Amino acid sequence: MNKLQDYSDIVGAYTIDELKILAEMLQRRPIQTINSTAVGGGVAEILNRMVPLLKEMGVNIRWDVIKGGMDFFDVTEKFHNALHGERVEVTGRDYEVFLETSKRNIEEMEISGDIVFIHDPQPVALIKRRSGNKWIWRCHIDVSLPHEGVWNFVKGFVKDYDASVFSAPDFSHPLTIRQFLIAPSIDPLSDKNKDIPQETIDQTLIKYNLNTDKPIITQISRFDRLKDPLGVIEAYKLVKKYIDCQLVLAGGTAIDDPEGMKVYEEVQNRASGDSDIHVIIMPHNDIEVNALQRASNVIVQKSLKEGFGLTVTEALWKEKPVVASAVGGIPLQVKHKFSGLLCYSVEGAAFNIKQLLNNKEYASQLGKNGKEHVKNNYLLTRHLKDYMLVFLSLYYNKDIINLD
Ligand code: UDP
Repeated sequence: MNKLQDYSDIVGAYTIDELKILAEMLQRRPIQTINSTAVGGGVAEILNRMVPLLKEMGVNIRWDVIKGGMDFFDVTEKFHNALHGERVEVTGRDYEVFLETSKRNIEEMEISGDIVFIHDPQPVALIKRRSGNKWIWRCHIDVSLPHEGVWNFVKGFVKDYDASVFSAPDFSHPLTIRQFLIAPSIDPLSDKNKDIPQETIDQTLIKYNLNTDKPIITQISRFDRLKDPLGVIEAYKLVKKYIDCQLVLAGGTAIDDPEGMKVYEEVQNRASGDSDIHVIIMPHNDIEVNALQRASNVIVQKSLKEGFGLTVTEALWKEKPVVASAVGGIPLQVKHKFSGLLCYSVEGAAFNIKQLLNNKEYASQLGKNGKEHVKNNYLLTRHLKDYMLVFLSLYYNKDIINLD
């Protein structure tokens, strides 16, 4: 596991010192962070990296995970999709199951934090146990157009918190409690983002039968309609008329997700007959994701809907020119013609990809700007600073926290 000091070469000693000052200002006040799983998914991934670093700085933080059966997690999965705006049918029984499991957790879980930091809807009802402590609800979901019933249900708990945190301005909602906007982050030292030797990249290209002589266009995403893999193939076909290139569509987890499997099959059908389209089901392998991103000439993220879009952050960090749809958190990251190119259609995506493949200098400049943008805004260290500032703000009435 990396130490705080390891980040100094990337973000500078000043940033590390600033984090240490904030940690000290928390005065070992007990903080308890609670989510629904210790492994798997973005929230657990980030907590697995943040909690040890906070502890290293002397922050008195503990991490707990709520318990629930399959029935509970089926309901929370439904809630998750509903909050993302999908049309799902939520029944009265679903709400009952959620409340029953929450009640058990409320009774059984030790709540010992001065600050209780709750992630996402699964543990939201724990607020029923509040005593004199401060409660924060951190929403990682794009709730810009939520299922009204589920959102109102969740809001019924959120109103009793002291503060809420959303990932992007579009995701926030009118609430009576304080709201903070905190973007997610990537860890520059993780397997997915750290520098890797050229040899590893070459081995990955060989493994997946990719040709080093032709430019590579890549989208790495779950096989999900909202990631529009078929649209990416259409854009590639338009580019291919003019430039001999390859397309990589890589994603994992399709096998255990029936809907994902269907999308994967459609993608394969659409790709058949063109040996330059590589549809790859990848087992969970961060080094290979890293290698494919680094081997690419252009990274595409043609989502129809997106949360923050961490694949874009990862690509920009690797100085890659990106063509991405202007949805969700993507425009926060891709400033058009500065840190990448935004697109609004298949034709627009194709036009932008062509432009980048034809003008290497322009592509390289966008990549460089992208990396700088991520360095300043979307790394783990910035995320740690924002969280500590939120914790501190609960004890300050003013909006300004003095670091002296
Ligand atoms: N990812 C991965 N393997 C895959 C597909 C995706 O490791 O086969 C990773 C990707 O690198 C990123 C995350 O999963 O870190 C996806 O996050 P993003 O915000 O882009 O999309 P989401 O899947 O959360 O909608």
